[in-house]
Amino acid sequence: MGKIAFFHIPAHGHANPTFEVMHALTQRGHEVRCYSFDLFRTRVKQAGASLFSCDEFIPAPPQDLHRRMGHDAACLIAMLVDTALRMEDAVLTDLQLFAPDCAVVDSLCIWGRLFAQRLGLPVAVSTTTFAFNRATSRLMKRDLKEILYAVRGLPQILSRLRALKRRGYDASVLGQLAANDPRTPTIVYTSRAFQPDGESFGENYAFVGPSLPALPKAASSFGKPLLYVSLGTAVYNPAFFQNCIEALRDFHGHVLLSAGSEACIACLRDIPPHITVYPSVPQLAVLQEADGFITHCGMNSVSESLSLGVPMVLCPQQSEQRAVARRIQALGAGLFPPSRTPAGIRRAVDVLLRDRARFQAAIAPICESFRQSGGASRAADFIERIARSKI
Ligand code: UDP
Repeated sequence: MGKIAFFHIPAHGHANPTFEVMHALTQRGHEVRCYSFDLFRTRVKQAGASLFSCDEFIPAPPQDLHRRMGHDAACLIAMLVDTALRMEDAVLTDLQLFAPDCAVVDSLCIWGRLFAQRLGLPVAVSTTTFAFNRATSRLMKRDLKEILYAVRGLPQILSRLRALKRRGYDASVLGQLAANDPRTPTIVYTSRAFQPDGESFGENYAFVGPSLPALPKAASSFGKPLLYVSLGTAVYNPAFFQNCIEALRDFHGHVLLSAGSEACIACLRDIPPHITVYPSVPQLAVLQEADGFITHCGMNSVSESLSLGVPMVLCPQQSEQRAVARRIQALGAGLFPPSRTPAGIRRAVDVLLRDRARFQAAIAPICESFRQSGGASRAADFIERIARSKI
């Protein structure tokens, strides 16, 4: 049986789809070691894998990280490179001892690629959003804030490129953060049908569809209709949540709002009794009961919502999410609010609930394409093939 190394970054949206894949591999008798973070300790264990915890290598984040998240690519690149250089000795040593047949590396996890390259290991990239080639990267139109951050961050990026080169690494790996490298085998957790320009991606791409755990029991006894609101686990935007609260103040059903953190909840005011706010909720359980989802269009949230037939109000917070949101709109599975004001959000919710059957009819073929994509088991087949390619 083989040995497979997985590499995570500390982000739920990036790690979540990999747990079922690890589980499928350990069930087949492979030994899986996951270079990850304490945040995921339990789930790594449940997948039957061993954990190498990388927490101590994360550098202190800038104080305003929550504002930069998803907008400031230079800050992200600097943190990724700094983490890679801090963990180099410890992780390379452990990886050499483990001696895997291949490495499965998150698309943003540059240390996984650098260390695999150094040890000559075959790599599969794990892409938790759309795959990006020349055609589809045009969909990622950067907004002004992102462009300003990019220009200001150029010296930061150049200094990290030099640092990588000094240690003898191929710094071109940073280019693969923006667009997938077509030569590297890549797992994408959506279907070729949902991926924009899906047919433009070659055989090196395995579109395996969402990799979801067994569905938990639907949880609640909340009133109906039930609306679910979340901006995922990385966005900090209390002003948007407050607008949702105002929009839904006289809503005739129940609203469950996942704010992402206690700090965000502390900023919210005057919450009426039919709106329940938590820092985090068991999203798959909630979506099983929800009639509509106001979402930031993170790929996992969207895949989960589509898989459970829940139409969406599309409120992306950054360029990658905007690309996902536009795809949903194009396929008729959700709608953009006319504005992010309380009135605009309310208008979209009313249309969503009124025309729910129409949206669900548009979701059905997407859901079917997900089912036919093979999920975690197909991802495991793909990884086994790559592991066998090791000479
Ligand atoms: N999630 C959750 N509870 C919450 C909010 C999010 O379990 O209260 C999960 C959600 O099911 C999804 C992931 O966190 O699997 C979020 O990933 P996504 O790609 O949607 O967004 P990100 O957090 O990466 O921006």
